[in-house]
Amino acid sequence: NLTDRLSRLVKTMRGQARITEDNVQDMLREVRMALLEADVALPVVRDFIARVKERALGQEVVGSLSPGQAFVGIVHRELAATMGAGVADINLATQPPAVILMAGLQGAGKTTTTAKLAKHLIERRKKKVLTVSADVYRPAAIDQLKVVTRQAGAEWFPSSASDQPLAIAQAALDHARRHYHDVLIVDTAGRLAIDEKLMAEIRDLHAALKPVETLFVVDAMQGQDAVNTAKAFREALPLTGIVLTKLDGDARGGAALSVKTIAGAPIKFAGVSEKIDGLEVFDAERHAGRVLGMGDIVGLVEEVQKGVDMAAAQKLADKVKSGTGFDLNDFLSQISQMKKMGGLGGLMDKLPSQLTGKAGQIGPAEMERAERDVRRMEGIICSMTPLERRKPEILKATRKRRIAAGAGVQVQDVNRLLNQFEQMRDMMKKMKGGGMMKMMKRMAG
Ligand code: GDP
Ligand code: MG
Repeated sequence: NLTDRLSRLVKTMRGQARITEDNVQDMLREVRMALLEADVALPVVRDFIARVKERALGQEVVGSLSPGQAFVGIVHRELAATMGAGVADINLATQPPAVILMAGLQGAGKTTTTAKLAKHLIERRKKKVLTVSADVYRPAAIDQLKVVTRQAGAEWFPSSASDQPLAIAQAALDHARRHYHDVLIVDTAGRLAIDEKLMAEIRDLHAALKPVETLFVVDAMQGQDAVNTAKAFREALPLTGIVLTKLDGDARGGAALSVKTIAGAPIKFAGVSEKIDGLEVFDAERHAGRVLGMGDIVGLVEEVQKGVDMAAAQKLADKVKSGTGFDLNDFLSQISQMKKMGGLGGLMDKLPSQLTGKAGQIGPAEMERAERDVRRMEGIICSMTPLERRKPEILKATRKRRIAAGAGVQVQDVNRLLNQFEQMRDMMKKMKGGGMMKMMKRMAG
């Protein structure tokens, strides 16, 4: 993979102080090949290489990094920047009901994603969600949406294959208004290839519904073809976001780079399984690593350096040493330090696979789960009173029930958190503060 190839080159570059026209050529060629292998479209690759070259040339190499390492860092950052900055959730800033229009080819995953999104909006954003199918061409499509909508716990507006898509959508919007739904998600028909009738139909739907989000759903396995599809939909519709589905398959993920560039909209979500909870908020940083197939140790070093507040770590260390005791407030601040370093998932992704086991063992699903756990832990501690955080030993059944209800979790989740806290406290005692500083410094290089 790219990391192996680059690290071979990196070795030959030891002792050179900066990235030059000369030594950058070989590395650029490797990156170019890796991107093409990952199914990134050729024009996108060309653009990308030009940008990396411009960034890299003449750049001073900082501290202990070799030019090769610095180069890898530039590639990784540029990849992430090309795929989007930060994470973007659904925009609901409009007079409700906010309409979300789903666009894409047949089989891209529109219907599945409609239900996944409904679940996401209900659970994470506490919204009342209605779905409707304007797919009148495939008899089973409407029923399919009905079934998955039910699984998502959202409401479904009935439609019939003998109605006009526009009439269906308008009736659903009307219903959503009268029943105070926050969001209406409109699932649409797709064809096997781009065709004018389909494009005209979805344009009409767009004009009538004035959606706050028009999401282009695209199958990551489509690889190079994804580009043509993205182009056609971009010309037909003002897209506001992309959902990249089937990232759990063996797609190389290069489609993300092409599609984002060509559709001119941020990738908002990634589909990672056919199940209803198989939707992740898209994380460009993490995906960049996946496309390159590397554990970005350079990125880890940088993030640890800027993310970890050394003063806070020192304070914590002193506290443990002086015997004041490690309480849930400290535990909470430790969790948020971890998040600053890019979350558990981000951290795992950056470690070389020798440390985390065979690549693929920590899949996107496990990482998502780890991050969900961290969010849940924060939620639980935030539902405690200051006294409870300082003196966790007063937490008995009634308090635990109250906290669980406040955080929207089960009592056993509270118990699990308390166990983790105790383990951490024991570890801190053993490390006697100084050990922890050493550990953090070691991570920071
Ligand atoms: P539509 O024609 O665009 O509405 O596509 P569907 O929602 O019917 O999905 C087509 C197929 O892809 C179905 O078998 C889905 O279960 C599957 N699918 C959709 N999204 C994902 C995903 O993220 N991962 C996997 N593995 N399968 C998916
Ligand atoms: Mg469908």
